[in-house]
Amino acid sequence: MASDQESTLSTSLPISTNQLLEDDLPSSSSSALLSTAGHHSSPRKTAASTLVFISLVVTTAVALSAAAAFSFLFFSSAPNPSPHSTAALSSRPLSKLKHPVVLIISSDGFRFGYQYKSDLPNINRLIRNGTEAERGLIPVFPTLTFPNHYSIVTGLYPAYHGIINNYFTDPIDGDNFNMGSHEPKWWLGEPLWETVSNHGLKASTYFWPGSEVHKGSWDCPNNYCMPYNESVPFEERVDTVLNYFDLPSDEIPSFMTLYFEDPDHEGHQYGPDDVRITDAIVEIDTLMGRLIHGLEERGVFEDINIILLGDHGMVGTCDKKVIALDDLAQWVKIPKEWVQSYSPLLSIRPPPGYSSSDVVAKMNEGLESGRVANGEFLRVYLKEGLPNRLHYSASYRIPPIVGLVGEGFTVKQTRSKGQECGGAHGYDNAFFSMRTIFIAHGPRFARGRKVPSFENVQIYNMVTAILKIEGASNNGSVSFADTVVLPTHSK
Ligand SMILES: [Zn+2]
Repeated sequence: MASDQESTLSTSLPISTNQLLEDDLPSSSSSALLSTAGHHSSPRKTAASTLVFISLVVTTAVALSAAAAFSFLFFSSAPNPSPHSTAALSSRPLSKLKHPVVLIISSDGFRFGYQYKSDLPNINRLIRNGTEAERGLIPVFPTLTFPNHYSIVTGLYPAYHGIINNYFTDPIDGDNFNMGSHEPKWWLGEPLWETVSNHGLKASTYFWPGSEVHKGSWDCPNNYCMPYNESVPFEERVDTVLNYFDLPSDEIPSFMTLYFEDPDHEGHQYGPDDVRITDAIVEIDTLMGRLIHGLEERGVFEDINIILLGDHGMVGTCDKKVIALDDLAQWVKIPKEWVQSYSPLLSIRPPPGYSSSDVVAKMNEGLESGRVANGEFLRVYLKEGLPNRLHYSASYRIPPIVGLVGEGFTVKQTRSKGQECGGAHGYDNAFFSMRTIFIAHGPRFARGRKVPSFENVQIYNMVTAILKIEGASNNGSVSFADTVVLPTHSK
């Protein structure tokens, strides 16, 4: 599918050609030649042969220059298979800080494209002077908040980091995971704050799923690890991060997180096209302005690697776009006790004694019968039969039956009247609407560079590359990280 193709391609497209074109091919070059030609082609009548000769020379010159220009375009636009093309670019030295710093900022549910809803001077400043995933960052499946935030900081797909949904039941011990669960047993893999502190460096987390869990040498230290409290004003979160830069140099964290619940909140409530989304985006931009200004006051803005991203996108949901499991009753009855989650990630665990493959076959028979409303917008799989690109089978926590729901559709147990319009995420990560933003600014990111879309499991290796520490093994690729992060002069 598209996303797989793009992420594969992205490894061979380390640099945008647009920037090269703008820098190296002044648009005036060909028109300048043409005007010279015009000047030469006004000879007197008596010099007809000279005219022919000059015309030929000029035509040849124009043709050659056009050919040169077009060949430049052609070769510039061709995929560059070698990461060495970035070698000409290298990181900028730190001016004030004594060690590299990465600040990851998550704006929850910041769908790719929201950045065009309004003039956003601060976000656009980061884009203009930084590196951007030109068509957005691809979330992991399921495109939900907890699985994605934890993939960003571990480099692992949910099947491997264990957070396979926002809520789930462990089928072995029957324990329930929810977004307030901080027991280490749920949270597999090695998140960045743990990697960083294992290397003797400091990390700080102003909210992030998993950050309050004690793992390895990370014990969620006071003042560096904020217990989640959604009522803390966004400005206070920004100011706390700024205050870290007032500390003595060796106490400034090398890795920091900052999290905002918006615009996800508005997206769910009103859908992605509501004016209140625009308002929320403008507020995020204002917060970026507050951050940039505070960092500039401290003389460290250009020293910090800021990665502004989201966890997933958002798509509008509305009445009539519902698939009701009760409508399948004549093929197979699915009691609500079997259903771990409905929508947009349908996951079902039939009790012992039932064959999951029978249930899948009967559900799909009903859905394909043409007699179930919107049946064509749900396809049910045994988890092992899901497309490989979703990487969603290798965990005992994932229920045996998983449904892929059509973009913008909702699965419910029972059809009911008067559905509200709103927004949702959690769908197949191949949907463009599920994409979010990746904007990176700082000494290890090229200015004005566009990179192709990539999956968020690549970010872990980018951070360890910037901090020059060895990371835990993960699903990202080191060579890919090197195509986005600039090399340093000395390694
Ligand atoms: Zn989210």
